[in-house]
Amino acid sequence: MLGGTVAVVGGSIAGCAFAAAAARGGARRVVVLERSYGELTDRGVGLCVHDDRYAELAAAGHLDDGIAWHRLTRRHWLAADGSPLGRLLWDQPFPFRSYHWGLLWRGLRERTPATVEHRLGDPVAGVRNTSAAADGTPGAVVRLVSGGEERFDLVVGADGYRSVVRTAVCPEARPGYAGYVCWRGSFPAERLAALDHLAGPADLAWPAEHAATVCFPGGQCVLYRIPGQEPGRPMVNWVFYAPPPAAGLRLEDPTSIPPGAATEELTAHVALLAERHLPPYWASLIALTPPERTFLQPIYDLDTPRRTSGRLLLAGDAATVVRPHNTSGAAKAVQDAVAFEDAWRRSASWEDLLATYERERGEAGRALVTLGRRLGRAQVEQAPDWTTMDPARTAAWWDEQLAGTAGFGGHAFRSPVVPVAGPPAS
Ligand SMILES: Cc1cc2nc3c(=O)[nH]c(=O)nc-3n(C[C@H](O)[C@H](O)[C@H](O)COP(=O)(O)OP(=O)(O)OC[C@H]3O[C@@H](n4cnc5c(N)ncnc54)[C@H](O)[C@@H]3O)c2cc1C
Repeated sequence: MLGGTVAVVGGSIAGCAFAAAAARGGARRVVVLERSYGELTDRGVGLCVHDDRYAELAAAGHLDDGIAWHRLTRRHWLAADGSPLGRLLWDQPFPFRSYHWGLLWRGLRERTPATVEHRLGDPVAGVRNTSAAADGTPGAVVRLVSGGEERFDLVVGADGYRSVVRTAVCPEARPGYAGYVCWRGSFPAERLAALDHLAGPADLAWPAEHAATVCFPGGQCVLYRIPGQEPGRPMVNWVFYAPPPAAGLRLEDPTSIPPGAATEELTAHVALLAERHLPPYWASLIALTPPERTFLQPIYDLDTPRRTSGRLLLAGDAATVVRPHNTSGAAKAVQDAVAFEDAWRRSASWEDLLATYERERGEAGRALVTLGRRLGRAQVEQAPDWTTMDPARTAAWWDEQLAGTAGFGGHAFRSPVVPVAGPPAS
């Protein structure tokens, strides 16, 4: 199929990948409507992409080695035992690339073909299907906050977990709050030298290729290095999962508290939890983070019964939100775009394209949401007594969470998706 006009609502990871896919597929006009002004490079911190998913996405032309990345090979599961680094519960293979969110976004943005029109600071108020073209052909209309309306042959909702496009595709689907949050923080890795007195030089105490998951009753802290904005100056990235302080936060409706906006009470709370639960090295590491580089994200899941309706299509987090324990959100978003481009090339009509995309990505998204819930339940909500865990038990506990699926870090693109059994009723 060649030609047609496509609007992509949201210009983040999924939005850039879909804009590139539509332009390469042969759309006559592709417009990205992004509500934020300017570059998105300061948003978010670290994320990881499984080596196998990277290879698939590189083969599809979305990622390449020109986007800065950091190699991770092992993950150490640890728990406090009075020693500076804690007791090693399990040394797990961890074949992932870590990225700085902003650098990944910039790389994807730079790889969108020059024909794509990026309109920043242009928020969308709503979308609807229409057959109101002069010749009666179906399409979709975008209503802009600035007042106007524009018609396209297809509208892609890549507008994240609070998607306005999703409210038109399946209004019944809403993100569900998992009951806990994560604090996230980052700082230049050279600051780790301040911890040498606790466990020796940083690269020996915590090798650069190792991720760490430090476990405690009711939560965990995941840490790894990522590339810095300046070449050769990596950063430390951490994600601390725990229930929020009891008072004052309304998290049932999807929300987030961006860097710099977390109150002193919220940053003090994570410092207190770290002090109370983490081995001294990791607690002191959290304390190296400047308050303005600390932010809070409530954890949500979202499973949509469908991701297309008429000429509307959902992508990335607008379609499904998977708890971050699965380390798959960015890869999933770009895989959605690869499936969309493939479907475009194989389809003779918009209807074929939308039906093929729905068939290929619907089940994959739902299976990842279920797996993310399982991982969150097992690792945070119903975590085991860590004092009883040794390498064999921890590995068996991990296998139980995966329940035979190969979905950790995202599913292989071409293999059939094995749905994961839902979490046990609590
Ligand atoms: C704590 C945490 C850790 C994570 N770790 C990983 C990891 O290790 N690996 C991984 O792969 N993924 C990870 N993820 C998930 C990953 O960040 C996302 O899944 C991925 O970035 C896909 O995002 P997206 O482009 O679909 O949506 P988003 O990044 O949310 O982008 C949506 C865009 O739409 C714009 N927008 C929204 N509404 C409108 C509107 N009305 N009009 C115009 N524009 C609009 C927004 O400004 C934004 O730019 C993690 C997530 C969290 C919360």
